[in-house]
Amino acid sequence: MSEDHLLREAQRAGKLPGLPQNHFIDGAWRASAGGGMMESFDPGSASPHASFAAGDADDVAIAVASARRAGEGAWKKILPRERGHVLSRTADLIRQHGERLAIAEVLDSGKTISEARGDVAGAARCFDYYAGAADKNEGKSFPLGEDYASFSINEPVGVTAHIIPWNYPLSTTARSVAPALAAGCTAVVKPAEQTPMTALILAELLHQAGLPDGVCNVVTGTGAAVGATLAAHPDISHITFTGSTATGINVMQAAARNVASVTLELGGKSPNVVLADADLDLALDNVVGAIFENAGQICSAGSRLVIERSIHAEFIERLVQRAKTLRMGHGLSERVNFGAINSAEHLAKVSSFLDGARARGLSIATGGRATVDPGTGKGWFFEPTVVDNAGWDDPVVQEEIFGPVLAVQVVDDFDEAIAAANCTPYALVAGIFTRDLSKAHRFARDVDAGQVYVNEYFAGDIETPFGGNRKSGIGREKGLIAVQSYCKVKSVTIRV
Ligand code: ADP
Repeated sequence: MSEDHLLREAQRAGKLPGLPQNHFIDGAWRASAGGGMMESFDPGSASPHASFAAGDADDVAIAVASARRAGEGAWKKILPRERGHVLSRTADLIRQHGERLAIAEVLDSGKTISEARGDVAGAARCFDYYAGAADKNEGKSFPLGEDYASFSINEPVGVTAHIIPWNYPLSTTARSVAPALAAGCTAVVKPAEQTPMTALILAELLHQAGLPDGVCNVVTGTGAAVGATLAAHPDISHITFTGSTATGINVMQAAARNVASVTLELGGKSPNVVLADADLDLALDNVVGAIFENAGQICSAGSRLVIERSIHAEFIERLVQRAKTLRMGHGLSERVNFGAINSAEHLAKVSSFLDGARARGLSIATGGRATVDPGTGKGWFFEPTVVDNAGWDDPVVQEEIFGPVLAVQVVDDFDEAIAAANCTPYALVAGIFTRDLSKAHRFARDVDAGQVYVNEYFAGDIETPFGGNRKSGIGREKGLIAVQSYCKVKSVTIRV
């Protein structure tokens, strides 16, 4: 079927034929040991579009055992450069199957097709990038003098677990699985129960690219039945988790019992600072993108606007106008540039934050309510929302809403802007818009964040390390540094 035809068919039927229904374990589709199935809902229409295996502890045990066997067998014997070839063939296959992946992502997650196509392109790039890293994972030598030869080897840690959220299902799977495989590890992936499809398709593509059986397994199901069992499994050596801070703490506790290492990419409440000297047109474009991309369901969303008082009123007026021009609707429609909220449960959570804001008398400059696709009257949507002039200790400033809700903090000067930027328990990313180089550098120095964006929110790509401080997480993904999370350093010292 041509790509165009695939999209038209999916728009018509509200489904994509031929989606996987089972786990991918040991190189093959496999039904749940307990026989259970679950449904995946299309957030754009609030109706089920596919069903998939509801895994349990038995499925996890089978997948981990197969990953362990593969890591000690076939995958270990393959040269690092061959591992790289598998990853680059996977990148090509992701591009070849790009439209199918993008449509599956829209139906599972509610995002727009253009956002999903961007995610697919990013996932392919990620495999290309780590393909090149597979044969460059060099050790070091240590200067003990002429009587010793001392060097280190970066060995794969072993079986790695990848627990994936529902907001960027394919991208998050790609960015953790690719470096793990480049390092020589094997993987068991647990996609979010709302969005299992693209991880399953990816596992099949990896297999088609020549990945030996058992190297990458995907077990679908709930966080309680599959995620928690996987995190607690004694044969898992490293867990990469992206999701809420509360669940991340549970995962870290489970890992501690097995002395497994973790990479945790958790919540955020990231500030986007606009100073009076900034290019305000540029800042406006970026403030809009930072909070309304993916309907705000981004851990690194710019969910707080910190703005100098002298430009505040005019900027908010323009921001509200822009928010009103967003075209909300089902993600498969190419006219739409603002998609759905992933689940009814999450929509209720976002709504409750705004109910609270209204009850506390906050100024809601635009939006503030749950709604539906204006074309069909269906789906789980939330209006693009700006809560103006919020107090620093207000829940809309302090807590992650994970929706299209921007909290505005007004400040009198640059020093107060830095204090406002640092006023939450989170420290994932921070943006600033200014023409003053000195202020940009001082901000980068003084803000607590894993990454700082100056004059372009979300600047950076797979090359740039990404992760959070404090309640936003531990460890870094992306970049070459990510490969190190999947390695254990062995030093060898020989008396010559
Ligand atoms: P949300 O609350 O937004 O669904 P979570 O952080 O709970 O976000 O979910 C992120 C991922 O973690 C999902 O794949 C989910 O199934 C999984 N998960 C949920 N609870 C646990 C748990 N106790 N242990 C491991 N994984 C879990």
